[in-house]
Parts: sequence; structure tokens; C-alpha cells
Amino acid sequence: MKKLFLIFLITVFIGSSSHAQPKPYLILISVDGFRWDYANRGITPNIDYMKINGVSALSLRPDFPSKTFPNHYAIVTGMYPENNGLIENTFYDPYTKETYKISDSLQVKNGKWYLGEAFWETARRNGIKTASYFWPGSEMNPEYRRPDYFEHYQHSRPFEERVNGVINWLKLPYTERPHFITLYFEATDDAGHKYGPDSKEVNEAIKKEDAMIGLLLKKLSDINLSDSTDIILVSDHGMTSISNKRMVNVENILKHYSQPDDAAKIFYQSSGPLMMIQPEKTKVNEVYQILKNNKDHFEVFTKDNIPACYHFSNNAFIPDIILIADMGWSLVDNNSIKWMKNTEEGGNHGYDNFALDMNGIFFAIGPDFKKGYKTGTINNIDIYPLMCRIFNITPRSNIDGKLENIEYILKGY
Ligand code: AMP
Ligand code: ZN
Ligand code: ZN
Repeated sequence: MKKLFLIFLITVFIGSSSHAQPKPYLILISVDGFRWDYANRGITPNIDYMKINGVSALSLRPDFPSKTFPNHYAIVTGMYPENNGLIENTFYDPYTKETYKISDSLQVKNGKWYLGEAFWETARRNGIKTASYFWPGSEMNPEYRRPDYFEHYQHSRPFEERVNGVINWLKLPYTERPHFITLYFEATDDAGHKYGPDSKEVNEAIKKEDAMIGLLLKKLSDINLSDSTDIILVSDHGMTSISNKRMVNVENILKHYSQPDDAAKIFYQSSGPLMMIQPEKTKVNEVYQILKNNKDHFEVFTKDNIPACYHFSNNAFIPDIILIADMGWSLVDNNSIKWMKNTEEGGNHGYDNFALDMNGIFFAIGPDFKKGYKTGTINNIDIYPLMCRIFNITPRSNIDGKLENIEYILKGY
């Protein structure tokens, strides 16, 4: 009985002491397509400030495929795309015949595609107010799966307005104020696609985004929240140069199967860095063998033999055959070749996520992070358990990320 009473006392003590801790503020910022080395070009004074006063990782490894929605959603769920549901920016549900597409706002809002639990939902369940100034998945239905406050995505929304929006949330009365906020900028991705990663336009985009980090830091200081706010700055993937001189027309390789009277119709999904194709079920092996025997600047796998490191098979919507282009090459079919032909020089991502060019950035600063600490490559799926640790809340049990891979960047470890 005495023992039970002691356990009761200890539980009450631990419970009350963790409640007594002030809740941190955490701002998670994404700069889309910001390649790992962009921060080493000597044009990012505000990121340099974060490096000196916080944690800087050599790079942030995305998941396969190194695309925008699969990776943003992996960051906030701690789950690989095969498990979080967003296997590509565009993909097809062969059972309902619906297509998820990031430009289709109805589908983007449809919660059926999102199989993970985003950090804002975990936080809300734990009584933490959350907000999002843009993030893939932040607009989904039903309401309880979204952040408490959110904005509908608008590509043209001025960046200063986004920063001001975050600051305005932090100026709300304490009981209404969010403690977790996301913020998103797409300038580096836009310029990277259009002009390539080594262009002066990308450097301008880098400077513009870095200036927004500076503006946010300044405004946080103006409202006296610098000392109580953690900031994690990430990107979803990197970027590599492409050219219309480096194209492979996969439909040409399979032209025998593309004849209208042929029984083996092939359904092409995605183009560029990766292509997924679905032949008739009885023809999968045959089509795979043809592609394997005519491999030209790409790798080809079936859903059953794709290397485990890609974590890209455990999902009913992944087609049976997956092709990954060599870095800088583009896979096309007779349809997509038309617009690829106009891309004389530019950039793209979506390739092998272990390739250095596909790596993004990870920097963190604030009361919970070590100061001036440099580490190697971090996996983006480990960020969700890290954020749960910062708020002392329990992560979902079915995630892929691991706290022990990343917690050493926190103070006290
Ligand atoms: P991609 O380069 O094709 O992987 O995707 C990048 C594009 O995704 C950006 O240029 C944005 O226009 C778009 N995007 C980013 N966030 C969102 C969002 N929350 N809702 C809709 N589109 C988005
Ligand atoms: Zn992106
Ligand atoms: Zn992009």
C-alpha cells in the first residue's frame, strides 16, 4: 500500500513538473527545392547566423521520390511516402479511378489520400494550438486533421505577407496563440526548374528566401519571442540540371506494346526523373524484361524487386514497374515528350533520393537546440519524432522516423 502511494506521488510529481514547463514555440519553415549546397554559396547571411547559433546538418535526405508533396508530408508525419499515402505529386487510384494531383484543389483537400497523422494533428490532440502558412496537407478535410489556423495555398502570395501572417498569429492573446506554425516559400524551386541550379536566377531566389528568414528573426525579436522560439528550416529536396538532349522515350522502347490492337496496353504515370508504368497484370514480367534489356540511362525495377532502401513498394497505388532516370536524364512518353522538348536547359528533382543533388537542407535554432553544432546528413522522417520530443508529446506508434537518430541535436544530449 505504501509502495502504491509512493508511485502515485511520483506520478503526480512528474506530471505536474512537465506541465509546469512553459510550452515552446516552434516554427517549421520550408524553402522548396533549396539544395544542400545553396547555403554554402556565401549569399545567405541569415542562414549563416542560424549555423553559428544553432544546429546545421550537412544535408537533409529526402525520401523517394524526391518530389514536393511526398516529402513535405513525410516531414510532418515521420512516414515514408509509401506509408504516408502521397507516393507522388500526381498518382492514380486504380480502384476508384480518381487521380490525386497537387493542382487539383478538391483532391488536395480530400483527406482520403493522406494516410499519416501530421504533426499539427498530434499536437492538437495534445491541446497545442497549431497554424500553417502553407504546407502540403494543411488544407485537408475533415477539420480536425488540419491545423487550427491555416491559409489556402496561393503561389503568388507575397513572401512578406506570409511572414507577417506568422507574426500576427504570435501576437494573438495567449490562449488563442498557436505554438506550432509552418511557413513555406517556393522561390528556389521555381527558379531551379526554369533556369537550373547554377543560374543567377536561383541565386536571386536564395537571397530572397534568406532575407525572409532575416525578416522573421527580426520580427520575432520585436515581439520579444526570440528566446522562446525554436525554428527548424528545411527543404523538401534538391535540384539537378536537365536538358532536352538527355531524354529517353520509354514508349519507343515498348512500341510493340503500344499498338492499339495489342492486348497489352500500358498505362504511363509520371515523367521526367521517374516513370511508373502499369502493363496488364499478365504482361508485367515481359515488359520488365524488355526494359531491363534496353536499359539506357535509367534503372528499372518491379514493385517486388525495388531495393528496400527506397521504401517504395508497400502501397496499393504504386504501379508494378518503376523506372528511375540517371541523374539529369528525363524519361518521357509520346505525350510528355512534347513539352520536354522545349526544356533546353533547366532543373528537376524526383531522382534517387540518395544522390547528393537531391539532398536538401536542415538548420535549427532556438532554446531547445545546441549552439554552433554541426552534424552529418539527417533523414527527413526523423523530424516528426523530434518535434514531438520538443513538445513532450507521444508520437504515433506507426511511424518510420526514429527519435534516437536525431535527438542528439537537442540541448542536454
Ligand atoms: P514540384 O516541383 O512539382 O514537386 O512541386 C512544387 C510546386 O508545388 C510549387 O511550385 C507549388 O506551386 C506547389 N505547391 C507547394 N505547396 C503547395 C500547397 N500547399 N498546395 C498546392 N500546391 C503547392
Ligand atoms: Zn519541392
Ligand atoms: Zn519542384
